[in-house]
Amino acid sequence: MGAPPTRPADRAFAKPRRRLLAAVAAPVALLAVGAGVLVGLATPTPRPADAPAGEFSAARAYRNVEVIAARPHVAGSAANDRVREHLVGTLRGLGLQTEVQDAVAPEAGQLSSAAGGATLARVRNVVARLPGTDPTGKVFLVSHYDSVQTGPGGNDDAAGTAAILEVARALSAGPRPRNDVVFVLTDAEEACLCGAAGFAADHPLAADGGVVLNLEARGSTGPVIMFETSRNNAKLVDVFGRAAPHPVGTSFAVEIYRALPNDTDFTAFLDQKFVGLNSAYIDGGAIYHTPLDVPARMDRGSLQMHGDNALGLAREFGRTDLGDLRSGHDDTYFPVLGGLVRYPGWLTLPLAVAALLAVGALGWLLRRRGRATVGTLAAGVGLALAPVVVAPLGAWLLWAAITTIRPGYAELLDPYRPVWYRLAVVALAATVLLCWYALLRRRVGPAALAFGGLLWLALFGVLLAVLVPGGAYLTTLPALAGAVAGLTALATRLDGPWPVVAVTLAGAVAVVVLLPPVVLLFPALGMGMGAVAALVAVLVGLALLPVVDLLHPRAGGQRGLLALRARRLGALPAGAAFVAAAVLAGVGLAVDRFDADHPVPTHLMYALDAGTKKAAWLSHEDKPQPWTDRYVDRTISVADDFPGLGDDELRAGPAAAAPLPAPKVETLDDSRNGGQRVLRLRVTPQRQVRLLTLHVDTRTATVRAASAAGRNVPLKARDGRWGFGIVFHAPPPEGVEVTLTLVPRGETVSVRAMDASDGLSGLPGFRPRPANVGVVGSHSSELLAVAQTYSL
Ligand SMILES: [Zn+2]
Repeated sequence: MGAPPTRPADRAFAKPRRRLLAAVAAPVALLAVGAGVLVGLATPTPRPADAPAGEFSAARAYRNVEVIAARPHVAGSAANDRVREHLVGTLRGLGLQTEVQDAVAPEAGQLSSAAGGATLARVRNVVARLPGTDPTGKVFLVSHYDSVQTGPGGNDDAAGTAAILEVARALSAGPRPRNDVVFVLTDAEEACLCGAAGFAADHPLAADGGVVLNLEARGSTGPVIMFETSRNNAKLVDVFGRAAPHPVGTSFAVEIYRALPNDTDFTAFLDQKFVGLNSAYIDGGAIYHTPLDVPARMDRGSLQMHGDNALGLAREFGRTDLGDLRSGHDDTYFPVLGGLVRYPGWLTLPLAVAALLAVGALGWLLRRRGRATVGTLAAGVGLALAPVVVAPLGAWLLWAAITTIRPGYAELLDPYRPVWYRLAVVALAATVLLCWYALLRRRVGPAALAFGGLLWLALFGVLLAVLVPGGAYLTTLPALAGAVAGLTALATRLDGPWPVVAVTLAGAVAVVVLLPPVVLLFPALGMGMGAVAALVAVLVGLALLPVVDLLHPRAGGQRGLLALRARRLGALPAGAAFVAAAVLAGVGLAVDRFDADHPVPTHLMYALDAGTKKAAWLSHEDKPQPWTDRYVDRTISVADDFPGLGDDELRAGPAAAAPLPAPKVETLDDSRNGGQRVLRLRVTPQRQVRLLTLHVDTRTATVRAASAAGRNVPLKARDGRWGFGIVFHAPPPEGVEVTLTLVPRGETVSVRAMDASDGLSGLPGFRPRPANVGVVGSHSSELLAVAQTYSL
């Protein structure tokens, strides 16, 4: 290669003669690729209200968002009745066969929110059908029209509901599809997914199953991500890649989502009858489930993206033969510059093994060519683990420090303006990697360190292929690309600029594959788990080490003052990254302050025992905010007094008893047969409530069977005194009939009835929040519970 002999430490993959040019050109090329990745994830421009009739228009859809999300409309409320009337009117106005499914339905699956007991709801789903010309099956477009009790649900899920109305309009305006298209606007998703469960289990149109497209929003902005599929998704993903105009989705998201305690209506459809795709936008999570989830906060670009994809998919599934959508395998898929790359899941493990072999071959060749020794290669592998561990740890410490300075972040899914903190975490990951590199590159050598990075990527690939196959591509493909680039450069003795071109191309693969997860993991997991994004950012860095090396002065050859200068220059990138991390974190703290538009979230509930006239303020905040702190002074378990609130430890404090009645429990029928006693009861709320619970003291009787509103209730055992419970959402004013088949232990059976309404204003001792104090987005915020024990 013509260069003078150098110490092994300088023997990198890429030794360009024009080092300065390479040090500028390669990073600039990778930055351009990174910019392309970001453009590929960007939301489209919202289309205006006068867009052609066959297109999706965010402006048209937004008009419906404003009607649906005018106010909170929790299942069972009068506000929700008005929303439902609007939906029915709109769909009928399109000429669609529209009906309301009015039913009592059980929860879908086993929800974490159902700690109180077996859960049901009275639901009213809006179901409309566009009959196909020659149907091979049905396409279901699903979203929920109810909101949480604390906010109007401007995004969650007025976005999905309004998008479906606009899709229904566009489809009705064009030629009829071949397959039936069914629009399912579900009720009581927030409570228990009961509307979707009731539709999937009981509605005649659901009897033969079909393809489900579920539309959700868990935030206010960002790209729509197709984050969940039914199993054996290859053919569905093929349609998604072809027919969705903005196909942002990754098989890795499915794995992440399974690890999160979230559920959507889609869960209710995940059985053998249905296949489908689940999509949501998730950035701007600070407003999720809060009073701030108003239409005005919606990013219309996200709405446009939701609608474009839903319409494209509805049209394609509307003409595809639906008999043939279940294929024998899952695909690996991920977004690449506005498109979707996919390959069959069975390739995952062979690819991972191939990457590992290629990296191994690279190590062998590096040693043969004198670029590294066995010792330095081993050192490179051992030391490359350091940034993988230290960067996430650093991100975790950074967020711990920021939340110490600003404790109000504790109850937020994500800060209101998280971008500065996200950039700080990325800069911190870069600091760790660059520091590590500057310290070691003279001692271990650039080639050995690059080898170490690639080997870990390849090893992670094999590990993921076995444990989390949908995520294996993340490290397998960069490792494979890096190894192939290195092997090509070494084996063909590339000269001139070509080695730099080779490692830059491999780096581009890493950026294309790994940058989207860095960008999407932040909103998906929130800043509290920014460490995961830091980990992925460090993996990008490890894949880019041969390019990173170009930023450093040549490692060998200098003596004396020159060497000192080189060492100082080598610390420059790390120093710059550190300064960037500190400045970005500081800007985040300066910019993202709590104020009236961005209030600090607080959680408060009120619980009254109408029998003993004892009341308490309760809060889920671990470290209560100053506002909450005036109400609570101890930690208690409410499992004995308010079993309907679950069995969490809560912060609590004394409250004055309000003159509110507990639900009435009447015995309609009481029969004894041998050792069994059958109690037919009516439990009736005495005020406007959204939730009714009934628990049995299992010290007084064993429950053998139970039904509520004519539906059998599963016998889920609970811990503690109230060992059996029924939770009924959106109970009708006339109450709920409950039948209990018991084996009594004594003369009387104890039951505890509780109901819950929303809103604390007017309660004795409650002082309204100042403008800069807000409400935590949770299903129990502002809950007002009244309970009483009855001996029967
Ligand atoms: Zn929700």
